[in-house]
Amino acid sequence: MNDLAGQQGLVVGVANKRSIAWAIARAAAAQGARLALTYQGERLEENVRELAGELDRPVVLPCDVTSDAQIATLFETLQTEFGGLDFLVHGAAFAPREELSAPFVQTSRGGFATALDVSAYSLIALARPAAPLMAARGGGSIVTLTYLGSERVFPNYNVMGVAKAALEATVRYLASDLGPQNIRVNAVSAGPIKTLAASGVGGFSSILQVYRDRAPLRRNVETAEVADAACFLLGPGGRGISGEVLMVDAGYHVAGM
Ligand code: NAP
Repeated sequence: MNDLAGQQGLVVGVANKRSIAWAIARAAAAQGARLALTYQGERLEENVRELAGELDRPVVLPCDVTSDAQIATLFETLQTEFGGLDFLVHGAAFAPREELSAPFVQTSRGGFATALDVSAYSLIALARPAAPLMAARGGGSIVTLTYLGSERVFPNYNVMGVAKAALEATVRYLASDLGPQNIRVNAVSAGPIKTLAASGVGGFSSILQVYRDRAPLRRNVETAEVADAACFLLGPGGRGISGEVLMVDAGYHVAGM
């Protein structure tokens, strides 16, 4: 498949080789896209640069999504390097570890603000400067990553569930705002996958087990499966789809019990 041939994309949220954003980057590159990857802070720079070495002419830039200054510099560089942008993959999420193990009622004001800022507001902060670069190419596609914890209660997912609910609403409002510029905005809702972010959720392995037991496909999903669905939404196959949350969870969301 060469569905993304000639396209230029920005992928935010690669931490290491297990990151869902990295699986999407690899799949998009395999379909012919040229990519810019970002890393959050020096701690992750080496990891991301090493992974980017597998890509063709990658651009690697810092971006802490809570920093308006870093976002501005990122898009100035993209303007120079790429001239335009066809797609954006948003895979950044964070909540302070203590918020993902204490009872939800103990959620702190600060923890709530941080989780919503990094995990939901950041999509708006990135979509805003991405839009003119996409409009310059006649349109574009934005895909973010969410989880069913936005609608249902999972143990310890806590404030991240609230952040994902805000993220999914953000997808719909951005889709409405940017649609007239031929920019589509969608989310992939992935089943649980063992990644760095997931390791912060207390008792995560029992969530994986429940999916294995109850999902119609009786298994967990792999990052490559989430990546293929994301590439479908990014590419021409998804050209009629916007404002959607696409479930890639082995069917778990339909199970009544
Ligand atoms: P991951 O590899 O840990 O990716 C999360 C990324 O967000 C990391 O690169 C992380 O960097 C980054 N991030 C956190 N704070 C940031 C900030 N201020 N600025 C920029 N980046 C920041 O874990 P993942 O599971 O692949 O997560 C990717 C997305 O998929 C997230 O939105 C997650 O909620 C979603 N998702 C995951 C699952 C799952 O079960 N794994 C299921 C459904 C949806 P740091 O490592 O430096 O914090």
